[in-house]
Amino acid sequence: MSGGFWTYKRLEEMTPDEWEEVCDGCGKCCLVKLEDEEDGTIYYTDVHCRLLDCTTCRCSDYPDRRRRVPGCIVLSAEARDVLAMMPHSCAYRRLAEGRGLPDWHHLVCGDRERVHRLGRSVAGRAITESEVDERDLEDRVVDWPLSDD
Ligand code: SF4
Ligand code: SF4
Repeated sequence: MSGGFWTYKRLEEMTPDEWEEVCDGCGKCCLVKLEDEEDGTIYYTDVHCRLLDCTTCRCSDYPDRRRRVPGCIVLSAEARDVLAMMPHSCAYRRLAEGRGLPDWHHLVCGDRERVHRLGRSVAGRAITESEVDERDLEDRVVDWPLSDD
């Protein structure tokens, strides 16, 4: 094989470790989203889940996240409908859609910090939901999480 495992393995074929390696660490999936009840449109806010460490963009309690945050989405290769709801730049969604990984992805460039340096992650761009009144969420809708890469 000439490329890394992500270039020839389907998501379903990856080992648990490979699956975890695919995550680019952007943290966009941990942003609070609002849904238009009429047409189902999803809007991202710059407010993040209370368990997200917004410096590292890592979940502060990954093993127990489902219990502590019932709405936390757990991805799987089989759940194609869930993958389709992820940010367009999400590494899992990219692979599921045959778009490959971008140059800045750590598996490609070997640098886990690059996603943050290039502003592709939520690092330093979002605040915790603990500090935001739910009634103010509509005022915090942003479009940068929707970028393609
Ligand atoms: S519980 Fe963890 S993984 Fe789930 S949304 Fe919150 S920070 Fe993200
Ligand atoms: S959006 Fe996708 S790649 Fe980014 S942190 Fe979430 S699961 Fe990982």
